[in-house]
Amino acid sequence: MVEKIGVIGAGQMGNGIAHVSALSGYSVVLMDVNAQALEKAKVTIRNNLDRQASKGKISEDDVNATMERIVTATNMKAFADSDLVVEAATESESVKRKILAELCPELKPECIVASNTSSISITRLGASTDRPERFMGMHFMNPVPVMKLVELIRGIATGEETFAQIRELTLKLGKTPVSAEDFPAFIVNRILLPMINEAVYTLYEGVGSVDAIDTAMKLGANHPMGPLELADFIGLDVCLAVMHVLHEGLADTKYRPCPLLVKYVEAGWLGRKTGKGFYDYSGETPIPTR
Ligand code: NAD
Repeated sequence: MVEKIGVIGAGQMGNGIAHVSALSGYSVVLMDVNAQALEKAKVTIRNNLDRQASKGKISEDDVNATMERIVTATNMKAFADSDLVVEAATESESVKRKILAELCPELKPECIVASNTSSISITRLGASTDRPERFMGMHFMNPVPVMKLVELIRGIATGEETFAQIRELTLKLGKTPVSAEDFPAFIVNRILLPMINEAVYTLYEGVGSVDAIDTAMKLGANHPMGPLELADFIGLDVCLAVMHVLHEGLADTKYRPCPLLVKYVEAGWLGRKTGKGFYDYSGETPIPTR
């Protein structure tokens, strides 16, 4: 049974996973190599909990108890008594492999390891560990405290018991699990990212401006956010990484990343997290950059 949860990576996703896990009563160790990221994550989690409390969704006591259930760490030794460790570090296979190699020797043999990767093969990541039958994908959506879905991905070696335990945990976190097979980008991103990439092509080819494209998809397709606004929210580096995985993994030219997306990433215009992407976020209201 899962009682103690470890989270690796205190970025956008890691802090959200720590938030929902601790709010559901689990004790959480949140780890990052960057101590500043941990400090920032604690502030973010508290602000997000305070927002939930101000809307009356949780009580002040819940806020304090949740914060008390989260401890932070900068090395893997902190996971010695974890029942589950969710890896939510930077979307890079070499980074994740290095993390898994350092992590596994510190774990109890029965500890389950899950990766929150958006696109990397769970089978391949699992094979690099000492516990492929206790390894699987647990793909939360952003922002984690708000989004209801978790995609659960079985690697070829993932055991049924592992899958069942993580499915049960997902329900206890108040989320809805959907099972996806281990193919590049799983279900949500297999469909969503090519749409975002196509929106960037639409901009690149001059079919429409940033504002026209987002307005068109909001009012014409009833999407709550335009695709370019959503790309900025996800992070343009993450979007590009997923397109590379689809392009390489499925070997189909229909997934080639738009050169304009590549250019934005090369400029360091990664979206909201850097203050600029398809919109500039330095003022009161976001201003389109094209
Ligand atoms: P992020 O850049 O906000 O955070 C990544 C964190 O990982 C950083 O704080 C970084 O310091 C830390 N990190 C890097 N190397 C590390 C190491 N060796 N050990 C410990 N920590 C390390 O990224 P994010 O957006 O939170 O994405 C994290 C994961 O979640 C990725 O696999 C991504 O594909 C996935 N994901 C992202 C989204 C999204 O919308 N951003 C949605 C679902 C899943």
